Amino acid sequence: MTPLQALQKYFGYSNFRHTQEAIIQRVLDKKDVMVLMPTGGGKSLCYQLPAVLLNGLTVVISPLIALMKDQVDSLNLSGIPAAFLNSSQNPEEQKDIALQLQNNQLRLLYIAPERLLGKDDRLMTFLRTLNIVQIAIDEAHCISQWGHDFRPEYLMLAGLKTQFPGVPVIALTATADKLTQKDILEKLNLQEPAVFISSFNRENITYRVHPKKKSFEQLLHFLKDRKDDSGIIYCLSRKSTEALADDLKDAGYAAEAYHAGLSNEVKARNQEAFLKDDVKIMVATIAFGMGINKSNVRYVVHVDLPKNIEGYYQETGRAGRDGLASDALLLYSPGDAMKLKGFAMVENNAEQSAIMLKKLDDMVDYCQLHACRRQYLMHYFDEPFPDNCGSCDYCLSEFVKFDGTLIAQKALSAVSRLRERFGSAYVIDFLRGSKREKIWGEHKLLKTYGAGAEVSRADWMRYIRELMALGYLKLSDDGYSALKLTSKSEAVLKGLEKVELIASQSVEEKDQQELAF
Ligand code: ADP
Ligand code: ZN
Repeated sequence: MTPLQALQKYFGYSNFRHTQEAIIQRVLDKKDVMVLMPTGGGKSLCYQLPAVLLNGLTVVISPLIALMKDQVDSLNLSGIPAAFLNSSQNPEEQKDIALQLQNNQLRLLYIAPERLLGKDDRLMTFLRTLNIVQIAIDEAHCISQWGHDFRPEYLMLAGLKTQFPGVPVIALTATADKLTQKDILEKLNLQEPAVFISSFNRENITYRVHPKKKSFEQLLHFLKDRKDDSGIIYCLSRKSTEALADDLKDAGYAAEAYHAGLSNEVKARNQEAFLKDDVKIMVATIAFGMGINKSNVRYVVHVDLPKNIEGYYQETGRAGRDGLASDALLLYSPGDAMKLKGFAMVENNAEQSAIMLKKLDDMVDYCQLHACRRQYLMHYFDEPFPDNCGSCDYCLSEFVKFDGTLIAQKALSAVSRLRERFGSAYVIDFLRGSKREKIWGEHKLLKTYGAGAEVSRADWMRYIRELMALGYLKLSDDGYSALKLTSKSEAVLKGLEKVELIASQSVEEKDQQELAF
């Protein structure tokens, strides 16, 4: 049987998607592969199809027990004998599966990585007696400490290449930046791996970031026209998922909470209800989602700032797997960024903490972006994306902008008067006419001292960030982060160039005003 015939016979699809065929061929040639494909891209088929064609057993390492059962059930329905081994089974069931394995009756065996951790490596010894022809490692980014979902038990997989010499390993993930990719290849010890990277662009998702003000009201505003849609709302803390789910229920929405602190029973019940559309909104921590195969999620909202772009992109990627138009909304507040910064800094490993801070910075830049969001995301994942996308808040001109020339002139002139020697905090204090001793003493006589008193500190922060993004200001690179003028600054100072800034007003407020008139 050719791969295409097997695709049609067992999976009922007429064609391969994107890189699937090349990946499959590579595995059939007994070569190692790493596959990066967005969620919903069709990763499972890349090892399931070789499993059908190769004469022997494919072992699939997968971190999620709930997902395993789904996959095994659907394989069995397609006439492909498969089973899983995990802690939810009793010894009888496990023995039964062992027997089937010994009799070469199974094509695929799913196991959780922690099963390979056991003190006596009984399972490993047993596996070595079997005719294993392929090892698939799902969610392979879990092996990397630099990834956003490190699972120590994945480190056990480092030995697979030596324990099963000559058996092709296929590592799959939907989320890995350059650093994480490199780490996966190294840690798994893949031999001359072919790396297949599919486009990560999710055309059907519209990305928006709104300034976070009164998040619950903003949410209600967002949900107003989405009453019948299914969506996921991500919060940072377990407590807030429950509080928010309750508030949404009070407001008439079918919402439930999901986080790692709930009992397995409650988690399973809520997840099931969500999959069946009995519950429309899942209010969750990031514990929810990996491997959840629900195709009609219409929106993903982050009411708190995600820790990094990888996590954010994976979470938003749970929307619109059916290809229909879907929304990703993030409510951003600088306060959230400060809080996460605090968390990142207490990491006891300096290197780790530096990487986390850098990733957080990128996340904040994304939120404060003055350009196409999709382009930023694609570039983050090193994917060329030359044009604006036409379907993010920036491209759709949804930002509320105002003529910020005067604001810009004040800021630039303050930077100039302070001889480009001070960081943004000082410049803002100066603009606001702070009585701070040094400012009061040394700089109060300078023109523009106090010229921006009517603007709040938080707004000044945003404007200065924006002026940097627009190229009118930059930071000194001597490690002091003093604000500096650029070649573009002069035209603004001389009144030759106008500057449009983004208002701190949120889209919801604008809508409300429009309604009022
Ligand atoms: P991933 O693991 O990458 O998130 P899945 O393997 O769950 O994605 O596949 C997503 C969906 O696409 C599934 O419903 C799957 O059956 C379907 N699919 C995969 N390959 C093909 C194909 N060649 N043609 C049509 N549908 C496919
Ligand atoms: Zn865009």
